[in-house]
Amino acid sequence: MSRRPLIAANWKMHKTTPEVRSFVSAFWPKVSAGTERDMLICPPFPYISTVDEARRDTRIFLGAQNMYFEEKGAFTGEVAPGMLKDLKCEYVIIGHSERRGIFGETDESINTKVHAAVKYGLIPILCVGEKKEERQKNLTEQIILRQLEKNLKDLPDTAFTNLVIAYEPIWAIGTGLNAEAKDAHDAIALIREFIHSKFGENSAENTRILYGGSVKPDNMKLYMSQKGIDGALVGGASLDPDSFAKLVNY
Ligand code: PEP
Repeated sequence: MSRRPLIAANWKMHKTTPEVRSFVSAFWPKVSAGTERDMLICPPFPYISTVDEARRDTRIFLGAQNMYFEEKGAFTGEVAPGMLKDLKCEYVIIGHSERRGIFGETDESINTKVHAAVKYGLIPILCVGEKKEERQKNLTEQIILRQLEKNLKDLPDTAFTNLVIAYEPIWAIGTGLNAEAKDAHDAIALIREFIHSKFGENSAENTRILYGGSVKPDNMKLYMSQKGIDGALVGGASLDPDSFAKLVNY
């Protein structure tokens, strides 16, 4: 089966209302002719509705960069899955390495968030990947498998009809040090094998697995030519409409 490529923008903590509007109006005309690729913007929480308004009459998907797993309650500063649905989000990034590293998210809380996303009909983009020291010690496979084991724990096979995993080596994020295409290929093949062995062939076939880590217009084609890489999760190069359009039109 063929999986639709997904090119996802993680805007992190960037942009203002006018910048969001001008991005979408500059970006969409450059990509509107293509029909076979999915494109997604994940803005900071306060701009979700701004992107939603700006994307009307386009085929741009909308996502959040994080969420909490509870439905509602006394959780100051948090955002619930139902709120993201209410704001028309289709996707949510879960377990980004900046959430794990800076904000102390654990494999267990990430697992709870993946369950909550599935329950609320949001498509989770689960991020996994190793640190530089772990790669140097040849621990890459072990780390990825441990994250997958814990982050996907107790998910029903049906969750894999619409689930995305992003392989993001932490040392490659925002550093300009992108992974070798073969290393990205091998890590993604390992992830697909894991899903196959735990959740069955259909789950492995349906799951889109992205590469993320200093993807730029000049290296996108190389990644996308690797078997099994279904798209990219992009930080820095997604902030400029020309550059993000080049990634979508790779
Ligand atoms: C990211 O934040 O997920 C990311 C991959 O960032 P960058 O493209 O800037 O490396």
